[in-house]
Amino acid sequence: MEAKGRTIMSCEYCNKEYGIYHKRNGYMLIEHNFCPMCGKPLKDPEPLTLEELKERDGKPVYCVGLDNNCFNGWCLVNICEKKVVDSEGDYWEMVKYGKLFVCYDREPKED
Ligand SMILES: [Zn+2]
Repeated sequence: MEAKGRTIMSCEYCNKEYGIYHKRNGYMLIEHNFCPMCGKPLKDPEPLTLEELKERDGKPVYCVGLDNNCFNGWCLVNICEKKVVDSEGDYWEMVKYGKLFVCYDREPKED
């Protein structure tokens, strides 16, 4: 499992490395939706697994509601309260993860 801890991500257009995905820490060192080398848009991020979400305690994730679009945006993971909380205090309950909402480590592109 340790060997899978780090995955180097490379751009599908220019093949340059643009970031490192740290499986153990549950976050990806990618701040943009485009390749910093060639500027082409990156593939959409995969939704985090519940395990990956829990590993991001205190860190930001991008939430997307599966039922409606009224609560999409950046939230903070709060393991203590089993919630993912946005800047206005609204929250998703973690028990509903994958049913009512999913989280990403960066903002997915609009279709
Ligand atoms: Zn590139």
